Amino acid sequence: MQVERLKTDILIIGTGGAGLFAALHTKQANPDLDVTLAVKGLVGKCGCTRMVQGGYNVALQPGDSIERHFMDTIVGGKWLPRQDLAWKLCETAVERVQELENEIGCFFDRNPDGTLHQKAFAGQSFDRTAHKADLTGIEIINRLMEKVWKAEVRRLEEHRAIRLIPAKDGSGLAGVMLIDMREGTYRYVSAKAVLMASGAGPSMYRYHTPSGDKTCDGVAMMLQSGLAFRDMEMVQFHPTGLLGGPDTRMTGTVLEEGLRGAGGYLLNGEGERFMSAYDPSGERATRDIVSRGIYQEMREGRTTPMGGVYISMAHLGPEKVEKAFPGMVKRCRDCGFDLAAGRVEVVPTAHYMMGGVEFNLDTSTDIQGLFAAGEDCGGVHGANRLGGNGVANSTVFGGIAGDSMAAFVEGVTHHRDPDEAEIDRAVAEAEIPFGLSGGDIFAARDRLSEIMWDNVGIIRTRAGLEHGIRELENLAGEIETMGVPDGNRAFNLTWHDWINLRSLVLASQVIACSALAREDSRGAHFREDYPEAGNLDETRYTRVKLSDGKLSLTMEKVDFSIVRPGESLIEGAAAIPSGNVAE
Ligand SMILES: Cc1cc2nc3c(=O)[nH]c(=O)nc-3n(C[C@H](O)[C@H](O)[C@H](O)COP(=O)(O)OP(=O)(O)OC[C@H]3O[C@@H](n4cnc5c(N)ncnc54)[C@H](O)[C@@H]3O)c2cc1C
Repeated sequence: MQVERLKTDILIIGTGGAGLFAALHTKQANPDLDVTLAVKGLVGKCGCTRMVQGGYNVALQPGDSIERHFMDTIVGGKWLPRQDLAWKLCETAVERVQELENEIGCFFDRNPDGTLHQKAFAGQSFDRTAHKADLTGIEIINRLMEKVWKAEVRRLEEHRAIRLIPAKDGSGLAGVMLIDMREGTYRYVSAKAVLMASGAGPSMYRYHTPSGDKTCDGVAMMLQSGLAFRDMEMVQFHPTGLLGGPDTRMTGTVLEEGLRGAGGYLLNGEGERFMSAYDPSGERATRDIVSRGIYQEMREGRTTPMGGVYISMAHLGPEKVEKAFPGMVKRCRDCGFDLAAGRVEVVPTAHYMMGGVEFNLDTSTDIQGLFAAGEDCGGVHGANRLGGNGVANSTVFGGIAGDSMAAFVEGVTHHRDPDEAEIDRAVAEAEIPFGLSGGDIFAARDRLSEIMWDNVGIIRTRAGLEHGIRELENLAGEIETMGVPDGNRAFNLTWHDWINLRSLVLASQVIACSALAREDSRGAHFREDYPEAGNLDETRYTRVKLSDGKLSLTMEKVDFSIVRPGESLIEGAAAIPSGNVAE
């Protein structure tokens, strides 16, 4: 099989907030650098940064502070975050938002006095979420995309990365193997530095929010390259995903938190409000608690016709609802529901992976020449991500990655020679399904989503997790025997579904094995057989590696490098939420 070759100084995988910021910063640091963006979809049109509705956390207002933002992040993350990373996030968000406004040209909503409007998000001790109505991600990505186009960066669109290729002499990373999805051909890109910013995404669950292009490819590639992953059991579920039935891709998409915040009711299939049985805050409890409450109603069979619960807004007045939530009302109407005057079926939906690859403050990894940023990375959020800290994370660390890579390549005199055997292996593995017949990839994908939902989902037990792990292992074996009937490689989406499935199953195995190891309940991870949080002073995180096809896991002590449980960086610590999860 022929492999086309390309050389570039810096290769960036993914064009979400992390990838685009990195591209811009590399060119700002050195306009002469040859920078290439490779992306599974189209630049600016794929990934989750574009889907950001709520906004961007940043401590700007008098009375708020980086310390306060940091404490909310640590307490919300149940003391699991890597504190130096969390601090870097909160500190750099300030300059990043100014950059977004003043250099990149984003228009965020403002107060009458001209300051940025910042709204309240659950679990935070200050109103610090900057936004552009409920379309913040579109504003950020569109403006970033325009700047990146102007900066003359090479774009490899509809190119999916499939494997990281090490140097022949073992000195680090030499480049990345990609499939040009349009042509169905292979392309090896040799680069002095590579950024992995493919956005992970828990799309292995029956209900999920991330965009369809996100199938944990970067997670799989970095695992296969021997890098360690932390906190992978921490998968955040958003409580109110739209339940529109199996025939619409709208199922699983988010109906925003503001609906419950505004006074919306959650009703079970019997028409009863149920949340006060689970938490005194009722529908306004934090995401993990509401998700568990809904899941419990579902387990006990008090469901709607499609198996979820209802959100009901009508008591607030249909006209008011229509005016306050036009986007949500329209989204529901498109699926045949009347949000303003009726009831809408909802279900918890997998939203965000807090876990990811271990990386350093400058975004470098343990592989020389490989950098990582955004949702592919672990450690920033711990057991929970605050709403608004996701896009801050991708833009903060994406920018840092751009600066770091530009500095790194200064000292690199030549492109590393690749291990040609690894290139051959990448092609041979991708070609597997063309030599086979039989098997049903779509049924297998459905099975994966059932396994994860039923056994590795919102409420976990040892027995369920062990069952899930066995099922995942069987599935992983079966995928290797499944064929793709059409041998034409150009835009063969069945072929890509096969590759997607492989990545997702491997990432799922890591989630399941980490969830089995964590015998306590923290944030997004709830073990019915270990419902207590455990001793905060002894907080440990899961660390998983893949070698010779086997996963190995250790529990590592969290380094409280800035603040210890029971302490606070701010005076009047009572103002800080108790840690009962924050989004
Ligand atoms: C519906 C929704 C609403 C959200 N709202 C908020 C919010 O209000 N506030 C907040 O802070 N966060 C929010 N988030 C989370 C936020 O979107 C993410 O944390 C963040 O944008 C991730 O940025 P990223 O750059 O890491 O990845 P993404 O923006 O997801 O980009 C990943 C990129 O990698 C590409 N890619 C994937 N695999 C490959 C491959 N194999 N080869 C090449 N390219 C590949 C994708 O095509 C995409 O371009 C929301 C998420 C969703 C889904």
